[in-house]
Amino acid sequence: MSTSLTTQLIHHAYRAPAGFDAVAPGVYKASTVFFGNVDELRHREWRDKSGYTYGLHGTPTTFTLEERIATLEGGHHCVLVPSGLAAVALVDMAFLRQGDELLVPDNAYGPNKAFAEAELKAWGITTRYYDAMDPADLAAQLTDVTRLVWLEAPGSITLEFPDVPALVEVVKAANLRRAGEGGKGARAILTALDNTWGAGIAFKAFDLGVDMSMQALTKYPSGGADVLMGSVVTRNPQLHQALLMTHMRVGHGVAGNDAELVLRGLPSIELRYHAQDATARALATWMQTRPEVAQVLHPALPGSPGHEVWLRDARAAACLFSVVFKAHIPQQRIDGFCDALKLFRLGWSWAGPISLCAPYDVPAIRQRAWPHQGGLVRFAVGLEAVADLQADLAQALSIMSAP
Ligand SMILES: *Cc1c(COP(=O)(O)O)cnc(C)c1O
Repeated sequence: MSTSLTTQLIHHAYRAPAGFDAVAPGVYKASTVFFGNVDELRHREWRDKSGYTYGLHGTPTTFTLEERIATLEGGHHCVLVPSGLAAVALVDMAFLRQGDELLVPDNAYGPNKAFAEAELKAWGITTRYYDAMDPADLAAQLTDVTRLVWLEAPGSITLEFPDVPALVEVVKAANLRRAGEGGKGARAILTALDNTWGAGIAFKAFDLGVDMSMQALTKYPSGGADVLMGSVVTRNPQLHQALLMTHMRVGHGVAGNDAELVLRGLPSIELRYHAQDATARALATWMQTRPEVAQVLHPALPGSPGHEVWLRDARAAACLFSVVFKAHIPQQRIDGFCDALKLFRLGWSWAGPISLCAPYDVPAIRQRAWPHQGGLVRFAVGLEAVADLQADLAQALSIMSAP
């Protein structure tokens, strides 16, 4: 029919044979997806992954990654979004309506609180903060209009490991009371865990009883510090459908090339998790022996908040530990220590190949009182040799302590 070269190149008749089989799943990229006829265009279904309708609704590459992340989390359904923070916001947008209340742990990932204080507040949704280490405090903060409770294990930066089953029990008891009072129409309070730290490896979120498990795939599943992505996994088909519909209406797609990077990271996630766990524990234990240090925060260290719960509920720990320096050491010296480190680079995020550190002003990011006086530095261990990292810490500490 056509003779123009350009038209021939665009509408080329060759189709590679089906059945190509190799280690890496193919990378499919699309906005447009073709339909064979108008009937298909009108009726093809994407929500149950039986077909393809538009790039935003999924490709073979994103469907494959969704299924693998659901397996990693021990869940049944997964929605992918362009960052971990977008996954937090997706859960909030899917389930919160004007007049609802949200409960967030005071030690939660900071941007989770920032989204609540800006967007959710503007949309007429109130946020309250609870002490994740005190289930009675969660019980006291629940009201008739609470709709969603965020959980995080352990807390960001300060790494307190909460009793997630006890917190979930508080919510379930409130739901039973509500169902008794409000009958069938009563809306249940939902629980969502930020499981970026556990990554589906340290413990299984659904064994702890939560309704949804969210992860920044940016961290362990990628492992490369070169891609941003997030996921929300559920076992409940109704919750999944609600997430999927909000996801579609908000227009959150993930690119095939980005999905490919996470698919490449997944085969080594367990090996990396345990290797980085061992290095972090060795360095955290060594830092405890240093005279400059008031406390090392890491759930696997006896004396760290929530250590006993971590022993009961978890099998491993992530690459993070925080050091609280003695109160007499001025912030300027702590900043100088961070600047003096050579292998530990300054930067956000974690679970990549390069070790990172950053100083935090904890009282400035907490509503509740913080028991320590000294400055805090959070370390995120990469894949370097433990002896090299320890030598780096030692040389920077000696600079910090020099007269
Ligand atoms: C990094 C992180 C996020 C957000 O992930 P991004 O992909 O950077 O948006 C959410 N929660 C926790 C606990 C994180 O560490």
